[in-house]
Amino acid sequence: MIYCRKCGAQLKDNAKFCDSCGCEVVKIKQISYADQYKAKKHANRSTTLQKSMHKKDEKNPYIAASIVAVMMALILAMFPWNLIGKGIGTSLAMRIAVILLALLGDYHITKAKQVNNLIFSKYGYRVKENIVSFINVIAVFVTIMGMFALFTY
Ligand SMILES: [Zn+2]
Repeated sequence: MIYCRKCGAQLKDNAKFCDSCGCEVVKIKQISYADQYKAKKHANRSTTLQKSMHKKDEKNPYIAASIVAVMMALILAMFPWNLIGKGIGTSLAMRIAVILLALLGDYHITKAKQVNNLIFSKYGYRVKENIVSFINVIAVFVTIMGMFALFTY
């Protein structure tokens, strides 16, 4: 049931003009509480999304640390030590240095993954995910090779 906004007379639902005063009938769309709630919820979600967009620059320093450790282990393991002096490359000290750097790399890559999971749970993305996966593979490889070298020579 609708009423004239000017004189308050009851009008037919499809009336274009008021029968009493001749005023034009303007239909104002009624917004239900359910619609209002939905709109508010949607607005909140947009704000959350915007917030996460602004947080795209989260830092994960463990990634760089793991890269440095793994690369140093690789360089020590691959360096042509024989050019400098025989036996340096296969010395116990060198093999221990390689394995320690590899383990340091493993530790930092584990931390990097933990920090990334935390960032993911907060903002829905991970920092340099592909690089972390790649360094993880290299770190495991160097650790296994280091262990092998340590116990077989
Ligand atoms: Zn009227």
